Amino acid sequence: MTLTEKILARASGRARVEAGENIWVNADILMTHDVCGPGTIGVFRREFGPRARVWNRHGIVIMPDHYIFTADAKANRNVDLLREFAREQDLPYFYDVIDDPQGRWTFNAALGPNRRQHGRRYAGVCHTALPQKGHTRPGEVLFGTDSHTCMAGAFNEFATGIGNTDAGFVMGTGKLLVKVPETMHFRLEGELGRGVMAKDIILHIIGEIGFDGATYRALQFDGPGVAGLSMDDRMTMANMAIEAGGKNGIFEFDAQTRAYVDDRCRRNGTKAEYQPVERDRDERFVHDATVELDRLEPIVACHPNPGQRRLAKELSGVKLDRAYVGSCTGGKTSDFLALARVLRGKKVAIDTFGVPATPEIVEDLQTTRWGDKTVWQILEDAGVRMTENAGCAACLGGPVDTFGRMNEPLKCISATNRNFPGRMGHLESQVYLASPATVGASALTGRITDPREFC
Ligand code: SF4
Repeated sequence: MTLTEKILARASGRARVEAGENIWVNADILMTHDVCGPGTIGVFRREFGPRARVWNRHGIVIMPDHYIFTADAKANRNVDLLREFAREQDLPYFYDVIDDPQGRWTFNAALGPNRRQHGRRYAGVCHTALPQKGHTRPGEVLFGTDSHTCMAGAFNEFATGIGNTDAGFVMGTGKLLVKVPETMHFRLEGELGRGVMAKDIILHIIGEIGFDGATYRALQFDGPGVAGLSMDDRMTMANMAIEAGGKNGIFEFDAQTRAYVDDRCRRNGTKAEYQPVERDRDERFVHDATVELDRLEPIVACHPNPGQRRLAKELSGVKLDRAYVGSCTGGKTSDFLALARVLRGKKVAIDTFGVPATPEIVEDLQTTRWGDKTVWQILEDAGVRMTENAGCAACLGGPVDTFGRMNEPLKCISATNRNFPGRMGHLESQVYLASPATVGASALTGRITDPREFC
C-alpha cells in the first residue's frame, strides 16, 4: 500500500484497502474556521439536534483566520458565532481573535491595518497554525473545511479538505465515508540550486500534470531530495496538492518530522503519541515521476490558473503593479527570510505587501536580527508594507477593506497558492504565482524577475 492507503486502512480498522474503495474512516482532528465554521455548526445542529454534543471536544480545532481584520459586520459576526459555539461545547482548541470569551472584536481605526489588533490566543492562518499549535501528527487523519487542509500532509498524515455538510457529520460522529484515492508518486532527487525554492518544485509539478492533473488523487513526495527540504518547504508543497486537484499530498516521515512534531506537541500540551506510516514494497502508483531538484529554475504560474507554468526569466516583459508575500503557503518565517535576503539594502519599485501567516511568525521576524536590524525592519526599510495582523488577508480577496486586496484590475506577483480570476479581489486583476524570492526580485524591478539576478 502507499502512504495514504496505509493511513486510511488503519483509520478504517482494516488490514488493507485498495484505491477506489469507499470506506468509513475515523477522524483524529476536524478543523474549521470563520468562513465555513458557522455553516458546519448549522449542519451539526440541524442533523444532531440543538442540544447535541460534538463527538470529541479534543478533536475539534477552530481557528478564525479568513475575514478577521475588517470592519465588515457580517464577517465579524461569523467569529462571534464560533465563540458562542466554543463556549457552549466547552472546546479547548478555539483560537479566538480576542482574549475575553464574552467579548466581541471590532476594528480599531486608530490602530489601522498594520498594528496588532488581536489577543494572545489568536493563532493566525489555520494550516500554518495547526502544526505550530501541536495539532498535526504523523499517521493521523485530519479533515478540515478548507481546500488547503492538505498542507498537513507534510507531517506524514492524511489531511484533506471537506465541505460543511461532511464536516457537520464528522462533528457529530467522528467518521466520514471516503473513497480511497489513487496515488501519484513524485520521487525527489538532488538539491535545490541558488534562488530556487520549494514553491518552484510544486509549480513545476503542477505545470507538468496540469491544474486538474491529480483530480481526486494522492500526491506522494519521497526520495533522497526530501532530506534537504525543511518542514516549511514540505508544507509549501503539500499545501498546493489541491492546486492540481489532489485529494491530499503526503511526505515520508523522518527525523525532521519527528523533531518538529514532538517539540510542538510538548510545548502546547497536545497529544504526544502517534504512529507514522512507512513505505511498503508493494506500492501501486497511477503515475510515477522523478523530479531532479538541481535542474529546476525559478518558476511562475501565470494567470489564470496554477498550471500555467513558465520560467521566471522568460517573463521579464511582464510589468507588474503589485507584489504580495503571505498566506499559508507563502507567509511562513522561511518565506520572509527569503524575501529579506533579496530586498536587504534595496527599495521596492511597486506596492509590496507582507502578511505573516501567524502571530508566531510576526514575532520571529521582529526578533530575528541581521546585523543591527530585525528582519521586520529590513523589510519595512525596503518599502514592504508589513502588517502585524497575521491572517489570510488578500490571499482570497475578502471584504473591500482587506489589507492588500486588489480593488482595481491590477497585475500582482504573489507568493500565495491560487490565481483563478478574482482570487485576490477585482475580477479583472491578474495574479502570477511565484516563490517569495521571485516575488522579492520582481518587486525591486517592477517586472517579473528571476531572483538569481539578486542572490
Ligand atoms: S491563506 Fe489563502 S489559501 Fe491559505 S487558508 Fe487562507 S485563504 Fe486559504
